[in-house]
Amino acid sequence: MKLFSVAYLRLTACYVAIIMVISLLFSVWVYNQAQSELRTGINKVIELKPVDANRPYGAVVDQRLADSQGRLLNQLVLLNAAVLVVGAGASYWLARRTMRPIEEAVEAQERFTADASHELRTPLAAMKAEIEVGLREGKKLSRDDAVLLLQSNLEEVERLGGLAEGLLALTQNDEMLPLKSVELSEIANKAASRVQAFAQTKQIELVSDLQPVQVLGDEATLNKIIGILLDNAIKYSPEKTKIAIRSYQQDGVGVLEIADQGRGIKASELPHIFERFYRADASRSKSQVSGHGLGLSIAQKLAEASQIKITASSIPGKGSVFTLRIPLS
Ligand code: ADP
Repeated sequence: MKLFSVAYLRLTACYVAIIMVISLLFSVWVYNQAQSELRTGINKVIELKPVDANRPYGAVVDQRLADSQGRLLNQLVLLNAAVLVVGAGASYWLARRTMRPIEEAVEAQERFTADASHELRTPLAAMKAEIEVGLREGKKLSRDDAVLLLQSNLEEVERLGGLAEGLLALTQNDEMLPLKSVELSEIANKAASRVQAFAQTKQIELVSDLQPVQVLGDEATLNKIIGILLDNAIKYSPEKTKIAIRSYQQDGVGVLEIADQGRGIKASELPHIFERFYRADASRSKSQVSGHGLGLSIAQKLAEASQIKITASSIPGKGSVFTLRIPLS
């Protein structure tokens, strides 16, 4: 990204400037120190071992001093050149390291905006095309066709509404939520009752085995997470299957398990399902299950804000199991 190349160079220049100022100040100090040390040293040597009687004492000292100063200056110049080269390399490396998290955040933001625009475009394009057809037909458009057109537009508007809600949920701040003691089995039971009607449309049976577990959580958040998982379990399961909901305590945490007999998720897709806008191939094509690929990323975000761990395992063709691990109260 061009913006970041310029930032790398600017930051490198700042680091190099700091290193060079320190190095030059240090060199000046070394030079001055060495000069006075040399003068004292040479004086002592001359006192011990008198020099050529024909040459004045002062001239000999000055000559030796000038030679030593020359050599010292050369060495300091070489040292500073080396500091400049090594410092520039190290500064560039450091600048890249410093900027990397910012660059990644900007890249993620850009990807998010691009994905969101893409998701917005599809329903808008469908609505536009239908409205254009309706207008072209004009008075020839029958009442029934007009109703169909409006119904179809309403579906697209609902899709857009769902997307807007999802985007809002993802952009809300992710501060830790205040947690208190709540009964997991009760929350799961309520969530299951809420999706009962949806499950019935596909004759899916919800089988609950809910042991009481007091966990540390936020009721509204747990409700949303379990709701998303149950919603997915129903969406991605064929008709007349079962979804098992279990709650129990294990290894010092409260566990909630939602196991479906749906299409499952391929091992290669499993690591990505919690990413924003990710939809497994099968969800996009073939059966055209509605969704924007935001549900699980919202669930993940909510879970992180209340110290819940979500994991998923799946056997393609057999079903998936989503598990929540919640701290006990
Ligand atoms: P959406 O359901 O809107 O596509 P999600 O973020 O909730 O988005 O899920 C991401 C993807 O994970 C889905 O598109 C689907 O491919 C897969 N997935 C989620 N839950 C299940 C499930 N219970 N069974 C099979 N696939 C699932």
